[in-house]
Amino acid sequence: MEDCIFCKIIKGEIPSNKIYEDDKVIAFHDVNKEAPVHFLVIPKEHIESVNVINEKNSLIVSHIFLVINKLVSELGIDKQGYRIVNNTGEDGGQSVNHIHFHVLGGRNLTWPPG
Ligand code: AMP
Repeated sequence: MEDCIFCKIIKGEIPSNKIYEDDKVIAFHDVNKEAPVHFLVIPKEHIESVNVINEKNSLIVSHIFLVINKLVSELGIDKQGYRIVNNTGEDGGQSVNHIHFHVLGGRNLTWPPG
């Protein structure tokens, strides 16, 4: 998608602090980190949000969770715990319309979120 900043990151047109890449997804540190560890995992395919997940494209979600499983272990937050966040739509606080999963850890996270 032309105007999507995450598609630009995937194409290398915008720099990112990448921590993982394969043929289906990339993961990179969030520029505005809200915790000592805060990274995003996104599919290379432009999928706007959970609202357009269907039987055809839903396998990417399990793949993303496998990648999260690997990265939290590598980054050393798996034992202590972490939070996976997906913001969807305006009320959900989604600011980039390319589905992404935040992973936050390295501190005690409060609940409920604001
Ligand atoms: P959301 O508000 O859930 O849509 O999350 C979008 C996230 O993308 C925010 O936490 C931003 O800080 C992050 N973000 C936006 N642009 C970049 C970028 N160029 N590199 C890394 N993270 C970014």
